[in-house]
Amino acid sequence: MIEDIFPNLSKVEIPLPKNPLKSLNSYVIKDSERNLIIDTGWDQKECMDAMQAGLRELGVDLKKTDFFITHLHADHLGLLSRLVTETSTIYFNQLEAERIRSLGRWNDFVDFARMNGFPEDELQAALHSHPGFKYGLKGDLAFHIVKEGDRIKIGDYLFECVGTPGHTRGHHCLYEPKKKILAAGDHILGDITPTVQLWSDDWDPLKEYLNSLEKVYKLDIELVLPGHRGIIRNCKERIRELKEHHKHRLEEIVSILRKGSQNAFEVASQMSWDVLYEVWGLFPLSQKWFATGEAIAHLKYLEEKGRIKRKIEGQKIVFSLKKDHATHSS
Ligand SMILES: [Zn+2]
Repeated sequence: MIEDIFPNLSKVEIPLPKNPLKSLNSYVIKDSERNLIIDTGWDQKECMDAMQAGLRELGVDLKKTDFFITHLHADHLGLLSRLVTETSTIYFNQLEAERIRSLGRWNDFVDFARMNGFPEDELQAALHSHPGFKYGLKGDLAFHIVKEGDRIKIGDYLFECVGTPGHTRGHHCLYEPKKKILAAGDHILGDITPTVQLWSDDWDPLKEYLNSLEKVYKLDIELVLPGHRGIIRNCKERIRELKEHHKHRLEEIVSILRKGSQNAFEVASQMSWDVLYEVWGLFPLSQKWFATGEAIAHLKYLEEKGRIKRKIEGQKIVFSLKKDHATHSS
């Protein structure tokens, strides 16, 4: 399905079968010399079929096409290895270009999930149902590394790379200041909330995410082209809503921890989730996985802010409120 957004800038909807995200928005910018595709979809036949049909309808020749990838999640770059040609330039950030090549990363996630209370008997199944594991990028591609402020010119469009860490560590958006467009990847979504998850203990993704929202708030933007669902016209209002959402989330977790110390998996099971399943026990494993990662990110933020503390009990990380936060919410 194609939607023309601006002259020579179209959205191709790439289905993500059996996934609550439903589809990925791939943006195609056409020019007589080189075209640019922003984000691609999974490495899956349904995605490839939709992409090929879209490109055919738009008259885009892959031999004259480059790619910009907002971040390393499989729904944004998995399909890339099937689309690139000998002439393709793939714009991508340094951190995640390295991350993608590190072989042990899935094992690290499993170890981290285990420490955070994810049940042992469900760990391997959760990993194998993870879309990133199933539909991620295959093979080793050469990336053209972009950093903050780098410019990419396609026809009438002059995009600037804007680093927006949080949803992932190396996430970058593309900003067109003259046309006031932001290709936002998963930094800002309209109908759903971008997930902020933590799967290693060496950063504070929610803190970075909130900082990145502040950074984008200052840009002059009339149209946000998000990685999923509909286009957003009121960027500032959406940013305020997203900040409010995380504030509520943090308070929810503090009230859950008032019942006593718990691991992240236990906290996740008591948080409110906007999903079809009424009770935690019915959540598919992949959803439990994402929920746990989201809980860990918020716990980390509260810990860094000095509101909660951790201890290790039987090789698991357990969180509790700090004394002066246990009786009142501040
Ligand atoms: Zn993502």
